[in-house]
Amino acid sequence: MELWYTENHTEESKFSIKVEKQLYSAQTNFQRIDVFESKEFGKFFTLDGLIMVTEKDEFIYHDMIVHIPMASNSNIKNVLVIGGGDGGTVRELTRYKTIEKIDMVEIDEQVVEVCKKYFPSTTSGLSDKRVSLYFQDGLKFVRDAKEGEYDLIIVDSTDPFGPGEGLFTREFYGNCHKALSKDGILVNQHECPYYSDYAYNMQRAHRNIYETFNIAKVYQAHIPTYPSGHWLFGFASKTIDPIKDLKEEEWLKHNLDTKYYNLDIHKGCFALPTYVKKLLEQSHHE
Ligand code: SAM
Repeated sequence: MELWYTENHTEESKFSIKVEKQLYSAQTNFQRIDVFESKEFGKFFTLDGLIMVTEKDEFIYHDMIVHIPMASNSNIKNVLVIGGGDGGTVRELTRYKTIEKIDMVEIDEQVVEVCKKYFPSTTSGLSDKRVSLYFQDGLKFVRDAKEGEYDLIIVDSTDPFGPGEGLFTREFYGNCHKALSKDGILVNQHECPYYSDYAYNMQRAHRNIYETFNIAKVYQAHIPTYPSGHWLFGFASKTIDPIKDLKEEEWLKHNLDTKYYNLDIHKGCFALPTYVKKLLEQSHHE
């Protein structure tokens, strides 16, 4: 008998992974968590039936959400991660000796517990002395943050429904703007442009960020297990442009061995397909 994990990417299309066994399943106060073992992608976990992390391709997402902002501003000392319960984003951040403080705010403590048990490779940075974990709603946490407290805010959230919904709103981005220092950067996972439901959410998020920040750019990566495999990230700042302000020499001095990110990718990933540019431009006028 064969066992397959299947996820609806749209009403009319599905994505499947052959599963060796299911390792865990639970309903938390916020969402359903499932952990599976597969030959192709290694272990992977889902929240409410959507893939969050697979052992095989998580490096792409985590490289791109962390190293793009870190190479754009070499003075990042205080960082806030919202969501990110699998720990992959914090793991990449802890590789920078120049970072002094990392606060991670995750709404669902059970995600962290489950990931510590099944994904030691992504949670390895959570025990770093500079990391503080807060289990609460990121929306409220940012509302209460001090003005200019963070140099980088990374929104490593689920999609904009359920607990992640508030993390795509104008109010939230406004509070992030306030909590960021003068040269601060906001990076968020920005959904997929290819399928219309995702593209709609992407446009809504982009419009809210564009209306809040002087600089609002979008960059892309290929993530095989996310819907359509084509994923976007948002880069926003009051002052920093990720291409003009790229600190090549400074970044190389960190001497980091990265598997997806490199300086060519940094410069290339902001070049977007025409249909994506059009979707983004449309959202400016809605
Ligand atoms: N890489 C992932 C992706 O895009 O598929 C995101 C992974 S990470 C597991 C997302 C985390 O965001 C989840 O653990 C979820 O509990 C957390 N989250 C969702 N809404 C949140 C909120 N309002 N405040 C803090 N954390 C939140």
